[in-house]
Amino acid sequence: RQRDPDQPPFHQAVEEVLRSLWPFLAENPKYMKHGLLERLAEPERVIIFRVPWQDDKGNVHVNRGYRVQMNSAIGPYKGGIRFHPSVNLGVLKFLAFEQVFKNSLTSLPMGGGKGGADFDPKGKSDAEVMRFCQAFIAELYRHIGPNLDVPAGDIGVGAREIGYMFGMYKKLANEFTGTFTGKGFSYGGSLVRPEATGFGLVYFIEEMLKRRHTGVDGKKILISGSGNVAQYAALRAMLMGAQITSLSDSGGTMYMPDGLTDEQFDYLRDLKNVRRGRLKEMADEFKLPWHADKSPWHLPCDIALPCATQNELHADDARTLIKNGCQLVAEGANMPSTLEAVDIFRDAGILFAPAKAANAGGVSVSGLEMSQNSLRLNWTEGEVDERLHHLMQRIHHACVEFGTRSGKVDYVDGANIAGFVKVADAMQAQGLV
Ligand code: NDP
Repeated sequence: RQRDPDQPPFHQAVEEVLRSLWPFLAENPKYMKHGLLERLAEPERVIIFRVPWQDDKGNVHVNRGYRVQMNSAIGPYKGGIRFHPSVNLGVLKFLAFEQVFKNSLTSLPMGGGKGGADFDPKGKSDAEVMRFCQAFIAELYRHIGPNLDVPAGDIGVGAREIGYMFGMYKKLANEFTGTFTGKGFSYGGSLVRPEATGFGLVYFIEEMLKRRHTGVDGKKILISGSGNVAQYAALRAMLMGAQITSLSDSGGTMYMPDGLTDEQFDYLRDLKNVRRGRLKEMADEFKLPWHADKSPWHLPCDIALPCATQNELHADDARTLIKNGCQLVAEGANMPSTLEAVDIFRDAGILFAPAKAANAGGVSVSGLEMSQNSLRLNWTEGEVDERLHHLMQRIHHACVEFGTRSGKVDYVDGANIAGFVKVADAMQAQGLV
């Protein structure tokens, strides 16, 4: 905190992990040696660079680009690129730190990293987005590679942006390698990667509910966000018989008291992924209640899935959700709940799944995309989905193994400790580097 006072989201992420680790470290003092914790909290490398680009009218803009290469103890740096005006070093360090533990939990050989720029793709033409992506990669390309650092998408970076960045990377590197994941299927992408984070989230809550002898079928689910994670969490939960009763974007929340229909889901995908419109248009089209500038957490539900952004669910929201009968909260977004909100869920004894376990499906399939690229082959949709399902079950199992105290599972502790042990062992074995 003293060294980087202007990075509160990073402090929040580190504090959450350390709170879980203290009792474990007291029982396992070997992990306190060789400055291990200090090294874990310091990125191996941070690259900050200028991104100059021209808009359609010929005006020049200068954004700031970043790549935080946090930890490579168990594999090449791996993590998404975010384009959003709120991007700064504190946000990316929190995301990169989380990614280290998440990637470790997947059991695949991936280190942790994260990058992005304070660029807002909203309202920009395709040509402007392409020029920005090319300018971003003109600098970043020298710092990434298939065995060094493999970026992916995140907020504001979907299939279109990955395509432009990969194209520029390939041109500058002068070789075709699997240096990005989330690529289009025709040029090395994996089937099920677009669906993976949302599908994985629902596979994870399915495992949690099994322990309480129930399932997703018939549950009313609030979802925030309406982007990649939100859409595919909604689809998988609907396929399993749940009712999706809300979606949101930065303009407000759309309430569907009777659940999202198939027709409405198709409209949503076209609105958000093709026309890049606002959710309010959909609420107007289907005459659904619209709560302007509000998140969904005041609405009744059995399950809440925050899938938009960090710190979107506060202490008051947590209390309201519990009062309204919510039984399970699982984080699709990264760190969507504040530390106070997490404490309230844990104290109330409802099921709570932290992001680094619950949303690890995306990076899991990214790991599978890297494997397919190295093998130079493509697995079928069924094969990838089955592996994803299996990986989410393994992550759930690891949380239960490391998070059970007096017969009760604490998924926050379980995810943090399970993710930590593999990275810590690798760092200790590799010496002071
Ligand atoms: P998208 O850009 O596809 O969608 C983001 C959604 O969240 C949009 O509906 C957006 O609304 C909303 N949103 C973003 N910022 C805010 C804000 N400040 N206030 C209210 N709503 C907001 O991103 P993804 O779905 O890919 O990512 C969502 C979350 O999931 C992020 O936390 C990301 O880090 C995490 N995640 C994503 C993975 C992936 O595979 N994509 C993997 C693991 C985690 P609007 O359009 O109005 O901005």
